[in-house]
Amino acid sequence: RLASEHKPIQHIIGETSFFDFTVQTDSRALIPRHDSECVVELALDQIPEDQNVFVADLGTGTGVLLLAILKARRKARGVGVEHSAQAIELAEMNRKYVLAKPDRMSVFHGSWSDWTGWEQCDVILSNPPYIRSDVIPTLSPEVKDFEPLDALDGGADGLTAYRDIIGLGAKHMKAGAHLVFEIGYDQKKAVSELLSDAGFKDLKHAQDLGGNDRAISAIKT
Ligand code: GLN
Repeated sequence: RLASEHKPIQHIIGETSFFDFTVQTDSRALIPRHDSECVVELALDQIPEDQNVFVADLGTGTGVLLLAILKARRKARGVGVEHSAQAIELAEMNRKYVLAKPDRMSVFHGSWSDWTGWEQCDVILSNPPYIRSDVIPTLSPEVKDFEPLDALDGGADGLTAYRDIIGLGAKHMKAGAHLVFEIGYDQKKAVSELLSDAGFKDLKHAQDLGGNDRAISAIKT
């Protein structure tokens, strides 16, 4: 049996739809999931139509979450932060591929701990790696053999990235700014507690197309 039998269709076709647009997709970054659309919707709930908001997407990958926000909010601008040199190339391509005015999005190549833009942001969103390390071997071959593992592996309890981002956000975000995460189906309670313990308030949750808890937002105090 050929390993390539399990190559994801999105890598073969080279693009993937998300809401009403498509982004280019290959092995360099996580393939957008329609379940992530609820993360964008929850973020959009916090962004008034006609405001000049600045948005950061931490671990932007293809850039899809940020691109969806920028398409829905014409006055918004944003930055995609990405530590993977491969993924950032794809985000850079999609910025030009999707946006009529690509300058509304910039990319920062580096880790979110090296990035210093926290206090400029009105909204920070992220679909970080959140799968527990011991679950990775059980994922389907399409995912575990073809998608970048550093976009999936959330460490021993799956919460490493949330702890990092919430800690940095609590330190550096401006009061009143929104933090919006995609979460694993069983992580609502744990991530809510991390946010509350760090002083974030007004927690809101959203479910994906399958009815699983998939998004959470909170406000920095
Ligand atoms: N939802 C993805 C999956 O199940 C995981 C995304 C992530 O870890 N951020 O493959």
